Amino acid sequence: MLYRYGKDEKGRPVKKAVVYTKDEHCIPLYKIDPDALRIVQRLKDNGFTAYIVGGAVRDLLVGRAPKDFDIVTDATPSKIKRIFRNSRIIGRRFRLVHVIFGLKIFEVSTFRSNADGSVGNDFGTIDEDVLRRDFTINALYYDPLQEHVIDYVGGVRDIKKGLLRPVISIDTIFVEDPVRMLRAIKYSSTTGCQMSWALRHKIRNSAHLLGPVSPSRLTEEMHKIINSGHSFEIVSECLKTDLYMALQPAATAMMYADRNFETNYFQHLKELDELVSKDKDVRLGKKLVYLLKDFILTLTDWQKEILTESSVGELYVKTWTECRNFVLPMNPQRTELEFAIRTCLREIGVSIRIPKKNVITAKDENESKPEAAAVSPKKKSRKRKHHKPLDNKSTLREIKNTATDAESIKR
Ligand code: ATP
Ligand code: MG
Repeated sequence: MLYRYGKDEKGRPVKKAVVYTKDEHCIPLYKIDPDALRIVQRLKDNGFTAYIVGGAVRDLLVGRAPKDFDIVTDATPSKIKRIFRNSRIIGRRFRLVHVIFGLKIFEVSTFRSNADGSVGNDFGTIDEDVLRRDFTINALYYDPLQEHVIDYVGGVRDIKKGLLRPVISIDTIFVEDPVRMLRAIKYSSTTGCQMSWALRHKIRNSAHLLGPVSPSRLTEEMHKIINSGHSFEIVSECLKTDLYMALQPAATAMMYADRNFETNYFQHLKELDELVSKDKDVRLGKKLVYLLKDFILTLTDWQKEILTESSVGELYVKTWTECRNFVLPMNPQRTELEFAIRTCLREIGVSIRIPKKNVITAKDENESKPEAAAVSPKKKSRKRKHHKPLDNKSTLREIKNTATDAESIKR
């Protein structure tokens, strides 16, 4: 074990960070994306320091395959941009650079300063940057050229102990950024690192802070949850801590109201996790099936609807609208939502073919903006009354049903 030293106020040397060598951290170099390695190398060749940071280091240490490789450096975004032609600067508040290699995008950011507490957006040093990161297990820096893990906050020890510990003070961590509550629950499930009682208690008491968070950030987290292969555990924990009300308000309200709905919802999440663990790149529509399955059954007595052959076009559009509202603030692409609805309906014996020129227009899509519709279930049902009647006739080319199909409907 090596140490990095700094100086205290009196100029005396003090240990700042522990440096783990490759025999100690055991991260095999072949598990590092060669393009991430190339980016670090190029930055170093240009006289900058650079590390792989955050989720990738954490995942490699807990034995999971990293989803992506984030890089942090002391080069400013404009300098990074100059070094990599295949890059673009993004972000208004805190600028960072996307370096593009084919289909892969690497996020390269500049060390952040901790000067104004932890909320400023100035550039800083690695010593400051580490104090801006949410949890110790996310605050590790890996130098792939020397094969060193640099640990300022005891993150390696916490991984060994299976502990999820905040870097930022527990009094401000969630006030500063409420999404960190979702992150805490996610990492606790995906890495097996446990939260302390105090942290969990803090989350439960701070759930209301998620209220004003933008639909796009909530959607991003929801996508991470359904892609994690651990959605069952994460959603259970989010429900217990009252966070799921912000992520999926309609589903939460239905689970509170109906025990059976909750049981089925969680059963479907288990099935979703199985699917994702077999094929993580499966299309969104397939994953949405698991969120919508049971909800679609509650919409109508499908068996009766089919047998009486009532206006199937209207039924489909209503189903589409209800499903769109049900998954808010997620606002999936129309094609993905349609795919999910058709799959769910097919499973209960209703087969639908959508005409090429679909009746759900761009205007209707705009009306489904999460900002406009991200409301509590109560408000949402008030809003539904104002939905304009849609032109249903051309929605369906065909709806097929057979007696046997209809009989297979589960209620
Ligand atoms: P995953 O992508 O699997 O959710 P990750 O740790 O890579 O995990 P990112 O959102 O990609 O998460 O963020 C990269 C790193 O940036 C994190 O590991 C963490 O150090 C830091 N970070 C991200 N979001 C926050 C936040 N809200 N507060 C503090 N630090 C954060
Ligand atoms: Mg990441």
